[in-house]
Amino acid sequence: MKSEELARAAVRALTPYQSARRLGGNGDVWLNANEYPEAVAFSLTQQTLNRYPECQPAAVITGYAAYAGVKPDQVLVSRGADEGIELIIRTFCEPGQDAIIYCPPTYGMYSVSAETSGVACRTVPTDENWQLDLAGIAAQLDGAKVVFVCSPNNPTGQVINPDDMRTLLEMTRGKAIVVADEAYIEFCPQATLSGWLADYPHLVILRTLSKAFALAGLRCGFTLASAEIIALLLKVIAPYPLSTPVADIAAQALTPQGVAAMRERVTTLLLNRRQLIDGLRDTPCVEQIFDSETNYVLVRLTASSAVFKSLWDQGIILRDQNKQPGLSGCLRITVGTREECQRVLDALNKQPSLTAAENP
Ligand code: PMP
Repeated sequence: MKSEELARAAVRALTPYQSARRLGGNGDVWLNANEYPEAVAFSLTQQTLNRYPECQPAAVITGYAAYAGVKPDQVLVSRGADEGIELIIRTFCEPGQDAIIYCPPTYGMYSVSAETSGVACRTVPTDENWQLDLAGIAAQLDGAKVVFVCSPNNPTGQVINPDDMRTLLEMTRGKAIVVADEAYIEFCPQATLSGWLADYPHLVILRTLSKAFALAGLRCGFTLASAEIIALLLKVIAPYPLSTPVADIAAQALTPQGVAAMRERVTTLLLNRRQLIDGLRDTPCVEQIFDSETNYVLVRLTASSAVFKSLWDQGIILRDQNKQPGLSGCLRITVGTREECQRVLDALNKQPSLTAAENP
């Protein structure tokens, strides 16, 4: 028997997540992974690599708890928020029996993690404003253990209406876990649901150092929840999820100075976003610009596939969202430095004007 045939059916059938890095490209303007555009310097202070690291390094946990305004026993640290997604599914969903619900168009790892765990996916598409279809979710809730809601949503950029989140939390009480994925919350901090954790013991919040903290390469994310849920996740997590250098740098990023530097980066980035959106408004091939509370902007373009390819060939790498439900003709542009935003605008303005009919 070939090894492929020995693999689980769910794995053979799986389409893996197409991460920005896997998609490749030969660019000098990387605007396809919602990373912070500039690197922040850190030096290692721990010289104890002969020892295993702490499972949940105390300095990282207390630093994040202070930053997020929760108790340390409400925080779990993991290898990116992606590991948090997987842990939640493995902790709450019985393979072959339970389901997750998510609301496309949205982040791709909820389905990939569920499928690799043998857990069924139910999709309840969002409405025309990319808000929740609460009746649709209610109709699918039976047998679903986890509902994933990304807010602000990737790739559309908007925050989910807080009244709808409350309704969702009420209808799921005692039945299912609600995960609010707040990977981009630092760009709209007032929208966090962290203050609701006390009211809703089934609310879980995902966070990351990959975006506003400018540490995507570190692979460090957080799960915030009731102490009861964190204790369950700790039963499932690997014994040493973070390496010592990762914990060392994460602890530095979460000091008061580290958090203040992050907030300054957010201010700069929001100015760059203004510049990018203003420029896009005057760009002929741009048909629609969607409001963004994040470090990326979703745009609908005339002949988007040709534009994507043309910019790719010029070394400007954007993210094509054309295949996502409801996003035909859409590209997602990460907000880069001022110069990078200008490079995108210049390249878009040089596009030959094609009619919508030519958009493949
Ligand atoms: N959630 C969302 C919505 C994201 O966009 C991302 C990053 N692509 C993640 C989670 C995963 O973040 P991390 O880098 O911490 O694994």
